[in-house]
Amino acid sequence: MQHRRRTRSVHAGIKRSQFGENAEAIFLTQGFVYDSAEQAEARFLESGPDEYIYARYGNPTVRMFEERMASLEGAEDAFATASGMAAVYAALASVLSSGDHVVSSRALFGSCLYILESILPRFGIEVTFVDGTDASQWRRAIREDTKVVFLESISNPMLEVIDLPAVRELARSVGAIVVVDNVLATPVFHRCKKLGADVVVYSTTKHIDGQGRCLGGIVLGQTEFIRKTLEPFLKHTGGAISPFNAWVMLKGLETLELRCNAQADSAAKIATGLRNHPKLSRVIYPFLPDHPQFKLAEEQLTRGGTVFSIEFSEGKEAAFRFLNALRIVRISNNLGDTKSLCTHPSTTTHQRLSSDQRQELGITEGIVRISIGLEDVRDLSRDIESALDAA
Ligand SMILES: *Cc1c(COP(=O)(O)O)cnc(C)c1O
Repeated sequence: MQHRRRTRSVHAGIKRSQFGENAEAIFLTQGFVYDSAEQAEARFLESGPDEYIYARYGNPTVRMFEERMASLEGAEDAFATASGMAAVYAALASVLSSGDHVVSSRALFGSCLYILESILPRFGIEVTFVDGTDASQWRRAIREDTKVVFLESISNPMLEVIDLPAVRELARSVGAIVVVDNVLATPVFHRCKKLGADVVVYSTTKHIDGQGRCLGGIVLGQTEFIRKTLEPFLKHTGGAISPFNAWVMLKGLETLELRCNAQADSAAKIATGLRNHPKLSRVIYPFLPDHPQFKLAEEQLTRGGTVFSIEFSEGKEAAFRFLNALRIVRISNNLGDTKSLCTHPSTTTHQRLSSDQRQELGITEGIVRISIGLEDVRDLSRDIESALDAA
């Protein structure tokens, strides 16, 4: 019998050694020894599910993390990586060849944009960018030779929500695979495997660690894709996660749902309270009724997430006064952390973009992104409100 998610987040994928340890063990070893030369030969020919060769290929602690993530996401299999970017790059580069065509939503995390805009074209891969919220742009851009469609289910920092089933249908019609970066939506609030993603990617640095300790990433998909396409690429290019980091992520999964729900409760409450604030021209949160894709958000997500953005009508100066007046919420570009964090995208995470690109994405100088943590929501509200007074 399949256990429910909360149970799986604590138990799925566990492998106990002969010592019967309760908490998962950290197998901090790069290599593995064989009982005989014949065994080594057999394992190099084909390794079974719990047979390891070298930590760049796989490791028992890493495997526990991969299996628990696959169970939570409803994916057949997974491969963990050193960072979210290693996961994004491997998911794309393992599939694509020179001459292939990619269609991607334009509203992307800065480093994802760099891969699509600057790295892939150097290898003869053509990339077409679209406004992810505009179905007609996807329809026009996806062609017979499109191999991969890439998008963030909720974009950062403008929190646009993309109609995944609609994009999936267009991609399917030409045999393209849909790769979804699901970081902002988290594995808790968006079951994008179910909605049609072929491959799901996470930066586990965010909510999955959730306590600001380690970098990590993971790619999830069908066994055929993970083992035949992705694994050979990652195994030989070296994006493996450290067993220690995988262990931190594995333990993070045990509390992921509790943390995300508590953080989303606070985010929704604070975002709602800030609507109509005289200093703000916008409060952007997927579950606020005035969000441009509110209906879609309600269809695709179980909650609005742990992050919202606000826009100061007076621009950068007001935004900076606000950031500098915060006492509990700290200025940092991370998100999904138990500590509330706040960033000014146009001068930090999205600084590299041209002002035209930023304008196209709506990232004005007044935009501030706030990631809500686990602090008492009353303290957070007070901190944010008094910083707004100072803005
Ligand atoms: C942080 C992030 C990444 C990159 O992850 P790292 O772990 O920092 O490499 C990719 N996509 C999104 C949406 C992110 O927020």
